[in-house]
Amino acid sequence: MQQPKLTIIVPCYNEEAVLPRSSAVLGDILTAMIRNQQIRADSQVLFVDDGSTDRTWELIQAFEKRTSLFSGLKFSRNFGHQNALMAGMQVAGHYSDAVITIDADLQDDPDLIPAMVADFKTGSQIVLGVRNDRSSDSTFKRWTAETFYGLMRRIGVQLVPDHADFRLLSRTAVTALMRYQETNLFLRGIIPQLGLKTSKLYYQRQPRFAGESKYPLKKMVTFALDGITSFSIAPIKAIMSLGLVVIAVSGLMLIYAAVRFVTGNVISGWTSLMMSLWFLGGIQLLGLSIIGEYIGKIFAEVKHRPRYIIETDDYSASQQPVLVA
Ligand code: UDP
Ligand code: MG
Repeated sequence: MQQPKLTIIVPCYNEEAVLPRSSAVLGDILTAMIRNQQIRADSQVLFVDDGSTDRTWELIQAFEKRTSLFSGLKFSRNFGHQNALMAGMQVAGHYSDAVITIDADLQDDPDLIPAMVADFKTGSQIVLGVRNDRSSDSTFKRWTAETFYGLMRRIGVQLVPDHADFRLLSRTAVTALMRYQETNLFLRGIIPQLGLKTSKLYYQRQPRFAGESKYPLKKMVTFALDGITSFSIAPIKAIMSLGLVVIAVSGLMLIYAAVRFVTGNVISGWTSLMMSLWFLGGIQLLGLSIIGEYIGKIFAEVKHRPRYIIETDDYSASQQPVLVA
């Protein structure tokens, strides 16, 4: 069999601190695999610059000049990690037999790449990198991650716990993925839905060796909420249950008040009144905000805006079309 052409996709947002080392490590792995004839000689690393404001793009261009192993895509502004991955896959998917997505900070183990390709060659369309422990995370991050996976499971969304965005996808898988047109795509939730043959490989996730996390708490919470509301209307259903409970409680209170009225000692005071007023007001606002969240989603989807704008695409310009066997 002819060797597959592999493209390693690396999303980069203000990663000038890590790119020199990451590019060296990834370049070495790719070179070794090409030398061992595991992959085709024109396999590449594709850096997707997600609107960085530091020297990230200059570095990428310097890499491109040095060797044809490296190539770059530049967004017009910051569109987010998931969109950077989508762009890389969409562009590279045309020309590659398989793509691997990996973070720029090498927290995912690049040494797993040859094993991923080996799995692909034996028939896996999707190979997921799964962390075998979370000891490099803070207690807080571990706790939030566990809560998130637990919640997702309870509302019926199949996720592979401790798998982030380190994975191999075959061209078939990329093509299938591109048929999901939603603007707001939660990749880890969609990929299990493709139903293609999947295997898992385990690795230990390292701490970031330089630079700072681009996922502060606020982004993490937004990402998690997005994941939930993109896949399930369980929160809306929960409002209904809550409403029923409140109605039941108010029924009991009505009976209680009626009994007190009949027995001649009517309840006085405004405490109970204020309490129930504020309580109900709170529940109503909560309910409205949950519904609003979904309406906002619909709003974003009907507009059907592009997920990203590519300003420069050095990758496509340099490709030879792949011959489909
Ligand atoms: N990233 C991106 N766009 C963003 C935020 C992050 O392309 O808006 C990239 C970032 O450069 C890195 C990857 O996504 O390659 C994961 O980000 P990070 O390491 O900061 O997240 P963490 O590992 O802390 O969850
Ligand atoms: Mg990271």
